[in-house]
Amino acid sequence: MGQEKVACNNCCLEDFYTLTAFRGNEGYDFLGKEFKVVLCKNCGLCFLNPRPNETSYSRYYAGGLGSRRRQGFGGQAKKETKKLTKEDVLSKKHFQRLYAEWLNARWGLQKDARIVEIGCGMGAFLYFLKELGYENVSGIEMGKDAAEKARTVLGIPVLIQDFFSHSFEAESFDAVAGVALIEHMMDPHKTIARMSGLLKTGGMLYLNTPNLLSLTFRKQFFKFVHTYYFTLKTLTSMLGQEGFEVTHALSVPTLASSSNLLFPENCIPGEMHIIAKKTGIKKSPIKTNYRDIIALYQKRKLQELPYIMSNKIFLNKYAEPLRKIRAKFRDRYKKNPKKELEEFFRHVLKV
Ligand SMILES: [Zn+2]
Repeated sequence: MGQEKVACNNCCLEDFYTLTAFRGNEGYDFLGKEFKVVLCKNCGLCFLNPRPNETSYSRYYAGGLGSRRRQGFGGQAKKETKKLTKEDVLSKKHFQRLYAEWLNARWGLQKDARIVEIGCGMGAFLYFLKELGYENVSGIEMGKDAAEKARTVLGIPVLIQDFFSHSFEAESFDAVAGVALIEHMMDPHKTIARMSGLLKTGGMLYLNTPNLLSLTFRKQFFKFVHTYYFTLKTLTSMLGQEGFEVTHALSVPTLASSSNLLFPENCIPGEMHIIAKKTGIKKSPIKTNYRDIIALYQKRKLQELPYIMSNKIFLNKYAEPLRKIRAKFRDRYKKNPKKELEEFFRHVLKV
């Protein structure tokens, strides 16, 4: 495949460096296809080039594995034919309770704040916010099945609509959330602009997305469904251009990955959680020395497991302290591994 002629979604320039390539490992149009990840030489934003077209993505998300993945039921096809219980829906997303708790302690919103989640799937995250006392939560979701489940199983109001043609009133929300959303979009900048359009000035935005500079990035996150790849700097830059100021940013272990259960040494920061406030003051894109990103990326590539364990700096800085903490939690919750993991993450998140 040749290069797709597309401007950088963050800074609008068109000068790219090919960072890496990988092969699609899932069905529909993508199996075995090579995907290149390019990096903008001006600002450091990374994305697939060429990006799969909208039709391919729509087919993927509309049916089969793709839609199940978005709903959090990857690999559990059988269950879909049965009636799902609340426990089924929540157990797959239990880690999102921690996201909700992390936010609750930081974003300074009243409990009657009007909150909407974009691409809310079956609504687990909103359900957890509701459990924390937020009464006024709702979602928007394109997938009919997922949205129906959010409504009927969890009792969460969900609009079945494409976010780009939504019918919400402008500037009517106190908070907008995008959980593992922004990396899937064909135009993340436009997505952030639309999120801003929904928020009152002073309103809060919550995003989480993989961190390109994390140590396990290549292994866990390069996927054809991830169109864009962010660092804290590129995401801050994009948010700044749409009038957001980042108030909280944290990189934590990837809670969604079950491999963290099996390999605690994998518990290294891979996922960014960001809270930003809508100030309405728009800023210019932030420039980056792209060679620094390449150098960091190359260094981290060498540290991939199993080699990762032989790297002293890595061990001292990340793995060893985390393993020690993890061991404490293991002792404390011997009979309840699920609880142990949850409490460990809660500790790491400093909830
Ligand atoms: Zn750029």
